[in-house]
Amino acid sequence: SEKLLEINNLKTHFFTEAGVVPSVDDVSFSIKKGEIVAVVGESGSGKSVTSLSIMNLLDKAGKVVNGEILFDGKDLTKASEKELRNLRGDDIAMIFQEPLTSLNPVFTIGNQMMEPIRLHLKLNKKDAKARCIEMLDKVGIPRAEKVFDSFPHSLSGGMRQRVMIAMALSCNPMLLIADEPTTALDVTIQAQILNLMRDIVEDLGTAILLITHDLGVVAEMADKVVVMYAGQVVEYADVFTLFKNPKHPYTQGLIESTPKINQLYEKLHSIPGTVPNPLNYPSGCRFVDRCPFAMKQCITHEPNNTYTADGHTVKCWLHEMDRIENETLKEKVR
Ligand code: SF4
Ligand code: MG
Repeated sequence: SEKLLEINNLKTHFFTEAGVVPSVDDVSFSIKKGEIVAVVGESGSGKSVTSLSIMNLLDKAGKVVNGEILFDGKDLTKASEKELRNLRGDDIAMIFQEPLTSLNPVFTIGNQMMEPIRLHLKLNKKDAKARCIEMLDKVGIPRAEKVFDSFPHSLSGGMRQRVMIAMALSCNPMLLIADEPTTALDVTIQAQILNLMRDIVEDLGTAILLITHDLGVVAEMADKVVVMYAGQVVEYADVFTLFKNPKHPYTQGLIESTPKINQLYEKLHSIPGTVPNPLNYPSGCRFVDRCPFAMKQCITHEPNNTYTADGHTVKCWLHEMDRIENETLKEKVR
């Protein structure tokens, strides 16, 4: 099917007193209609900045300095603030982790839900209220009529996040951007909410850009996965291929350090070391200090994105050489 969102060579920099921080450094990927694409990485990988760049919600220091963000064919990097405002909540909806998303404490749930519905769906009060109740029902909120008249503080965190999802989806957006939507919730409620989100978007045909640090969430939800490290995409594949045959040493480390998903591996371990300082990225591969397979050329030369036979792309010398030499260097290294 057709591409709904296409990000090409995006660079977002932050201009700070300490210097220029290249938070997103030449990132490209796309999302088709109805598809769930997860962007995964540790904090500092640039995944949130990528999502904030789409709707120009960066703080003052941040700026898109290169690339295009095509939504339904229109370049959002060139859109006016007014055009972006019209898209927000209508064609593109967003949910963030609490407390970023916190509902306005002085208005009832109904009050807050009605406004965008009346504005975007052009409904009268009665029909807008019916739509709210329908959406609150859909996200599994019991006694939706009562919740409609409640204030946010009377609801649990899980219920508030359900309300946020109901609100986000109430105007039938084409794209939902969800940044760590369930991170603040406990594991059981997180699973319930993710299942619910998946069911609803399957029904509505909404595409999701899911930002998360949690590969468990990725496995539950995503069709495709973009793995980011230090501002760059290091691996891209469909979800089955990625978990079955992760190619980038960073992805392998992430999987090995994720409980439940790592059943194939003998023991749980975390990737040693930390993300490099973005003011002073290594000139070769940015993962070089943490990589168990690092070679000489990794220090001096940045690897390219290599397309592999199973539709993967991976940014790593091991695979670039696979392609060039047609042999598995990885086995030699091991
Ligand atoms: Fe490791 Fe080198 Fe591949 Fe980077 S390019 S991930 S350092 S093997
Ligand atoms: Mg974040």
